Amino acid sequence: MDNLIKQVSKEILRANKIVAMTGAGISVESGIPPFRGKGGLWEKFDPMEYAHIQAFISNPEKVWHVLLREMKAIIESSYPNAAHDGLARLEKLGKFITVITQNVDGLHQQAGNTDVVEFHGNFATYSCMDCHSERASNEIDLKEIPPRCPCGGIYRPDCVFFGETIPEDAMWRSQKAASECDLMLVIGTSALVQPASHIPLIAKRAGAIIIEINPEPTPLTETITDYSLMGKAAPTVKNLINVIEDALK
Ligand code: NAD
Ligand code: ZN
Repeated sequence: MDNLIKQVSKEILRANKIVAMTGAGISVESGIPPFRGKGGLWEKFDPMEYAHIQAFISNPEKVWHVLLREMKAIIESSYPNAAHDGLARLEKLGKFITVITQNVDGLHQQAGNTDVVEFHGNFATYSCMDCHSERASNEIDLKEIPPRCPCGGIYRPDCVFFGETIPEDAMWRSQKAASECDLMLVIGTSALVQPASHIPLIAKRAGAIIIEINPEPTPLTETITDYSLMGKAAPTVKNLINVIEDALK
């Protein structure tokens, strides 16, 4: 692993434009469970029953009770871990880095990265389903479930539910960053959720080196990945950035 880390650190030092594509796995060590895999939320319930927009529209009370209330609480009380911090340290070293995240937890911005594309929106704000007025997360009162706007409409998080399209701006910025980068770090994503899983393919086709950090193999590992660092995000990214910082001293 040490040798692999050294090789990867050299690739990163050589790269001019870096994209980090992140998924739920990067936030696991911040205490936020992923959807798939061990300890994932899908072990407890069926995604289509709760995370599909039709499920929310037909029974917002149930989806708020089972999924949204818990996710809002976990996200509000979590902090960036060494993997989020490592990507922010890379930016501080003067590396040009765009973070494309499928996560809705805001932890990359909290860690200090300034160019973050939220591919699946976020839980930082909530919108009324009727009048579309927006409120910050801490203004959403959960004494009543589902929470309601003064107009009577129900609040939803500004995330992308299954069955909804990716915000145009996020899609455009992601495709542009992926097609222009010369190195992509793919961290903690199962690469099973479309169309996010397509973004690393765009980078590969444009000639970028693909580096994966994940304790489990994914559909990318045997197909387009150039370097696979099989480990948890926090210690692996920390180790990698330490080597890069030492090389620059
Ligand atoms: P996923 O749940 O499908 O897969 C998680 C991946 O993380 C797996 O490949 C797993 O092997 C890996 N993983 C687990 N622990 C890890 C660790 N410590 N370090 C590195 N990798 C680890 O996640 P996904 O591909 O991001 O897709 C699910 C969707 O669910 C996302 O698009 C997102 O919108 C949403 N989601 C977001 C959050 C969040 O904001 N933190 C949490 C759960 C789900
Ligand atoms: Zn309203």
